[in-house]
Amino acid sequence: MKEVINILTGDRPTGKLHIGHYVGSLRERVRIQNEGKYDNLFVMIADSQALTDNAGNPKKVRENVLQVMLDYLSVGLDPNKTIFFVQSHISALNELTMYYMNLVTLPRLLRNPTVKSEIAFRGYDDSSKGVPVGFVNYPISQAADITAFKAKFIPVGEDQLPMIEQTREIVKSFNSTYKEVLVLPEPVVPKNKVCCRLPGIDGNAKMSKSLNNCIYLSDDSQTLKSKIKKMYTDPSHIKISDPGHIEGNIVFTYLDAFCVEEHFKLFLPQYENLNQLKEHYKKGGLGDVTIKNFLFSILDSILTPIRERRKYYENNIEQVYKILYEGSEKAKQFANNTLLEVKQAMGINYFNDNKFLIEQINNLKSNI
Ligand code: ATP
Ligand code: MG
Repeated sequence: MKEVINILTGDRPTGKLHIGHYVGSLRERVRIQNEGKYDNLFVMIADSQALTDNAGNPKKVRENVLQVMLDYLSVGLDPNKTIFFVQSHISALNELTMYYMNLVTLPRLLRNPTVKSEIAFRGYDDSSKGVPVGFVNYPISQAADITAFKAKFIPVGEDQLPMIEQTREIVKSFNSTYKEVLVLPEPVVPKNKVCCRLPGIDGNAKMSKSLNNCIYLSDDSQTLKSKIKKMYTDPSHIKISDPGHIEGNIVFTYLDAFCVEEHFKLFLPQYENLNQLKEHYKKGGLGDVTIKNFLFSILDSILTPIRERRKYYENNIEQVYKILYEGSEKAKQFANNTLLEVKQAMGINYFNDNKFLIEQINNLKSNI
């Protein structure tokens, strides 16, 4: 029998998507989509997950659902090839979460390094505040998302690797305790290391909506220019003639993530490739303005078609809404089928199980 290849990815609607999402996951999704070697490609707007740390601000989540959809369509995800859905529409996911919670211990959840650092960042480790149960539990709910769609490949950034590992443990535990119904997923991370976790424009280790250090896919040219202008480079590189450092220099990190040789021909023909540019910077004699202008030209050329597609969909927002609704209905059916299989495997499908009543009668008889 031919193996079914399903793919699932998603994003939290906590803000518009940024260039970290682009290199970390969106670009890979578009590549996979256009290559077409899959059976179903699901893309989820994780609103329920976003509420785990935004319970008091549902407005923020609500406002960003269609914004994220606009970002998806503008990077080239195609509704004819991709099923978009919103997480809270799929109630089967909550039921699956409930059953998986019995297969994971609390210390195991709290050991998750991404959850640990997110708890610290949100101040949930302060004893007067405490961490919402839903928040520590979100890796389990993510396991429900992945398994409901029988996803084999998950294109993600590096911070999500512990979540996939948690899902794999749940799948193995479920399949060995009950029956082989769940598919073991594998993460797909970018080959280029810097793209696995793109730093923020403030130099923070990760560009993140919650850290307010992003270049958004929807930023206009002017905003892009001013963000790049403010970017941190090398504090010891004061005069152009000073030797400069590449390590920790965010402009070069971004060039590592986005620049291809073609960009030199187009925007900086005096150099052939990034190595040459780096060597010149290290030696001294190359100013920050030149490298920043180069980065601007590259990012602007990548963002221009994305902004144009966004404009089109912003003017056709009813169409965007319909795409999301239709995808959500399709996804619901798919997840309901998996839930049924899960309940069958666990033996809790009492009302569509012909054997259930007969077994009970026989048990009662043998006890008489
Ligand atoms: P939040 O701050 O609300 O958590 P976020 O910016 O971290 O938002 P998510 O919606 O949590 O974004 O992440 C969606 C996907 O994008 C995940 O696969 C994640 O690994 C990837 N991703 C997010 N930020 C980056 C980044 N800076 N570099 C590479 N990948 C990233
Ligand atoms: Mg995140």
